[in-house]
Amino acid sequence: MRGFFTAVALFCVQAFAGISYADSRLYGDPTAGVNLVASNSAVSGLSRDVVVHTDRRAPVKNERVTYARGGSKGFISQPVGSYSNGCLINGIQANPNAQHYQLYHPQNNRHYGDITLLNFLDRYSKAVHKAGIESVLVGDMSSRYGGPFNKGHASHQIGLDVDIEFSLRRLPKSKLTTKGNAVLLVDRGAMTVNQNFNRKYYDMLMIAARDPEVERIFVNPAIKVAMCDMTKDEREQPFLRKIRPWHGHAEHFHVRLKCPAGAVHCVKQDRPEPRYSIAQEKEEALSWFEPKKEVKPVDLASRVLTAKPKPKMGFPDQCSIYYQSMNVKVPEKKRTRR
Ligand SMILES: [Zn+2]
Repeated sequence: MRGFFTAVALFCVQAFAGISYADSRLYGDPTAGVNLVASNSAVSGLSRDVVVHTDRRAPVKNERVTYARGGSKGFISQPVGSYSNGCLINGIQANPNAQHYQLYHPQNNRHYGDITLLNFLDRYSKAVHKAGIESVLVGDMSSRYGGPFNKGHASHQIGLDVDIEFSLRRLPKSKLTTKGNAVLLVDRGAMTVNQNFNRKYYDMLMIAARDPEVERIFVNPAIKVAMCDMTKDEREQPFLRKIRPWHGHAEHFHVRLKCPAGAVHCVKQDRPEPRYSIAQEKEEALSWFEPKKEVKPVDLASRVLTAKPKPKMGFPDQCSIYYQSMNVKVPEKKRTRR
């Protein structure tokens, strides 16, 4: 009997999910004119909080509509799971013809996000443009259904992460599909920023950090150090705190949004440990350049003996059902980039 319900469930989800994301009217204002049909857990196997996006030409079956995430318009996308183990239901494609941002390497088809990420890109690119930066070059977001990538990125799985390339100008269209068009800001040998780093990049990062939806930003530690040196007002420290030093991130920075309100299946990340001054921020970033402490073989052996095995995180059930219904396989993870 259960098998029967699952089969019905998958059929229903599939039937509802025949969506054309290529419809340009969906870009920017993805809620406009879109019918929402809430799945019912008894029918589809998905939780009742998960809203399935229907073809806009399909009749509205609104007897079961629930606007899971606030507002009379409702929401059509759903981040499910954690940033590094989850999926994106009804991901929305970023606008390839946006006024103030461009999509870098669109051929990779990694420019899908939750509605909150799309809205962030709109307001962020406008704010950055106002600050005198011509355009935002948007790198990888999530893939169509979220989840792990076959190559690169441990996170970027639930439509709330975006890589923004270091670039201040609008690129000619021909350069959007080729490599090497972002600007390198770090002298890796000297472990400092290089001559390319300037106030505009600082502003670019701080505008993102001040956005209330932004939870974290990952940059190379050398960039974080430079930013601490440039920040004179201690009131900026909470925003600097969001800017986290991490490996790589010398040609792009990574913006991560909070789990949106009402996204009940989105797994929050712990906050970074608090710091209270710009000097402490700088100290933390500089610690990335300290030589690694040697571990005595005796300590190492005792660590191995006492270490608890990490529980293996399975792919969230909601995601497995969604993937099955969309007829897609979970790619094998080959991580190279955050
Ligand atoms: Zn990233």
